[in-house]
Amino acid sequence: MQGKIVKGIAGFYYVHVVESGVYECKAKGIFRKDGVKPLVGDNVEIEILDEKDMEGNITQILPRKNELIRPAVANIDQALVVFAVTKPKPHFNLLDRFLVMMESREVPVILCFNKTDIAEDPEIAELKDIYEGCGYPLLFTSAKQEQNIEELKTVLQGKTTAIAGPSGVGKSSLINLLQSGVKMETGRISAKIERGRHTTRHSELIVLGEDSYIMDTPGFSSLYISDIDKESLKYCFPEFASCEGYCRFNGCDHVHEPGCAVKQAVEEGKIHNSRYEDYLTLYQELQERKRY
Ligand code: GDP
Ligand code: ZN
Repeated sequence: MQGKIVKGIAGFYYVHVVESGVYECKAKGIFRKDGVKPLVGDNVEIEILDEKDMEGNITQILPRKNELIRPAVANIDQALVVFAVTKPKPHFNLLDRFLVMMESREVPVILCFNKTDIAEDPEIAELKDIYEGCGYPLLFTSAKQEQNIEELKTVLQGKTTAIAGPSGVGKSSLINLLQSGVKMETGRISAKIERGRHTTRHSELIVLGEDSYIMDTPGFSSLYISDIDKESLKYCFPEFASCEGYCRFNGCDHVHEPGCAVKQAVEEGKIHNSRYEDYLTLYQELQERKRY
């Protein structure tokens, strides 16, 4: 039988099987056989040991599409990066860091700005101005007034989505809305999943439907971009791609080089200054880190 690991605690893995629910599994033998540790998000083959108590054993980890290290999770299809339009106002440098991190791991991003109910029109216009040209799908939501929640559900449909963003922007509120109406598992199974919830915080997938999962994790708040080369940073800004090949120098890093097409595009307003400034800040940060 096939399922997906939604949680792992103290040697137990909780495997969601679409037709029947969540099985509490061990992974006997897997470590020795494949040398691979099961991760939340892994699609696995299980054998049922006890159908009544929903216990099983993981016999095989299916090939991974991708794997994040912090947090340790496999098979993420996309990330929903959530900020508030206001209260708190988006910290653009932090937002661009989230985007760079996802780009560097080739995780497609959907950008969600929440709290539209208390936003002024110019605040929304500024966000559109900066981020519409970057190629990310944009969603404006209000968890409070339940605006655009159906649209949000649509982009999450059939995918495993990591939810990232600073605290206070409404992630939990949105997740609660998304979860409402999802068939609750029987008390017996929930009790198993609840066990250990109050110990350390682990990555956990929340089942939204047949094959839709979301992951809320505190791990994303620590933003290490140190594993990116400064020379590769430019590829994490998708709107720079249209300038590719137009700079005077091959391998232009779009910093001090003369005849730089990116700098020209910034001057002409084709690339937003806020994004370019953050590019320079991150570039410098990576350069300084390298020297140590
Ligand atoms: P998280 O830290 O990102 O999970 O954010 P929460 O969901 O805990 O929300 C933080 C605060 O913002 C809470 O007081 C929520 O009631 C409030 N909040 C969340 N979504 C909205 C929204 O769409 N509009 C308004 N006005 N407040 C919201
Ligand atoms: Zn250039």
